[in-house]
Amino acid sequence: MQRTRGRDNLFERSVRSRVHAKGIRYRIHYPVPGIKRFTCDFAIPGLKIAVFLDGCFWHGCTTHPPSVKKNSVFWLEKIARNQARDIRVREHLEKIGWTTLRFWEHEPVEFIVDKIASTVQNLRAAAISS
Ligand SMILES: [Zn+2]
Repeated sequence: MQRTRGRDNLFERSVRSRVHAKGIRYRIHYPVPGIKRFTCDFAIPGLKIAVFLDGCFWHGCTTHPPSVKKNSVFWLEKIARNQARDIRVREHLEKIGWTTLRFWEHEPVEFIVDKIASTVQNLRAAAISS
């Protein structure tokens, strides 16, 4: 099932619904500012937070590395390109003052949601005190 890439898979939906339940409002598939035709999984634009929920296969998670035996060079190269792009996107967002939150699909949903909620809280507090 590692290759199911659908834009709205169960992992993404369960993270989003729990984030929503915490009263955090977001925009789904929000275009990354300054990068054409590229979206994050969801964003909180008011606080400049971009969230990426990465599939282990497509983004080359090191805990679940793609099998070199089972996958053709084509797929392995595609994963390597995705990884390089993920780094470029993070650097770009950092430059323009956005916070990138990137998670693996193998991470517990509760951990992910807590991390998003605490980041939102911190940025809101920073916005009020500035
Ligand atoms: Zn993984």
